[in-house]
Amino acid sequence: SGCQEDVPSDPSVKVVLRIRTDIGRDKLETPTIRRVSSNSLSLGDRLFSFDSVVDSSSSQEDIFKLVGVPLVKNSLAGFNTSILSYGQTGSGKTYTMWGPQSAMVEGHNSSSNQGIGPRVFQMLFSEIQKEQENSQEKQINYQCRCSFLEIYNDQIGDLLDPTQRNLEIRDDAKNGFYVENLTEEYVTNYEDVTQILIKGLSNRKVGATSINSKGSRSHIVFTCVIESWSKGTSSKCFSSSKTSRISLIDLAGSERNKLDDAGRQYVKEGKYVKKSLSQIGNLVNILAEGAQSGKTQNIPYRNSCLTHLLRETLGGNAKLTVICAIYPDNRCRVETLSTLRFGQRAK
Ligand code: ADP
Ligand code: MG
Repeated sequence: SGCQEDVPSDPSVKVVLRIRTDIGRDKLETPTIRRVSSNSLSLGDRLFSFDSVVDSSSSQEDIFKLVGVPLVKNSLAGFNTSILSYGQTGSGKTYTMWGPQSAMVEGHNSSSNQGIGPRVFQMLFSEIQKEQENSQEKQINYQCRCSFLEIYNDQIGDLLDPTQRNLEIRDDAKNGFYVENLTEEYVTNYEDVTQILIKGLSNRKVGATSINSKGSRSHIVFTCVIESWSKGTSSKCFSSSKTSRISLIDLAGSERNKLDDAGRQYVKEGKYVKKSLSQIGNLVNILAEGAQSGKTQNIPYRNSCLTHLLRETLGGNAKLTVICAIYPDNRCRVETLSTLRFGQRAK
């Protein structure tokens, strides 16, 4: 029947390791890792393997093909999909997920720096358009809406309206699960999405580049809800509808607390980051194991804002890719080891 769609068969949780390339200002001193095979590497005497390892010879386009293309296909097939980027500050999480804002404006035809997120939406809208041009028997209508939020000290803030702080997660019979008062904007094309991305990223806690800045202490979550329904001539397809969501989650830096030279607030931030990252680690671990054993488990979503929020995204009919980002320099050895362990546990 024309209602059936190809459902790609990838695992529900995939872990990709991205090794950051050298950039001029902080040159790689001593490499810590050794590639053992295409998907594994060693650090000291420990071996780590992943679904894929993307090294410094890989481009933004390569990682998009690996992670972004299956994500778009899965989303259009009705799965909830998400990408989570994990790693210490400076390891390339943000570069991988979004790329520079200038590249979003230019688009991937002119900028090779464009990150996975913008490329996903470029592809999504082009697939939707193709489908609408080609389908004769059944017409599928799509409606997409986006939100962008930040979690800082376990509080949710609206990146599209910075006056909205400390938003509450609600779960009621009438409206289901939602973040109260969070801005949602309808989008119909790539430009709409990039405007939202640029606005939100600019509103992220300022000064995101140094380890001691607040920007590295917040998680940000971009969500696009895609609703589709077909009203074809075939009675079988009539009024079938689907809802799926794409979530792009750029986590706070995973580095351990540095010495408190910036006052008490910094220590407090570090505690929240540590707690929520460890909870997301548990969650991903349970999801990965549950997927393998086929067990449905009591997942401890409510432990932190981050996991609570991701219940809708990661639970049930969902596909998650975790991107672990490392900078393979001896000075980062301890953090690299902890990121590799995180990725290993999620597999
Ligand atoms: P994080 O978000 O993990 O703190 P960033 O994504 O901000 O790290 O990366 C730190 C710096 O390194 C940025 O200036 C970024 O543009 C640069 N960078 C990271 N990965 C790459 C890469 N693969 N190629 C070129 N530059 C990169
Ligand atoms: Mg970042």
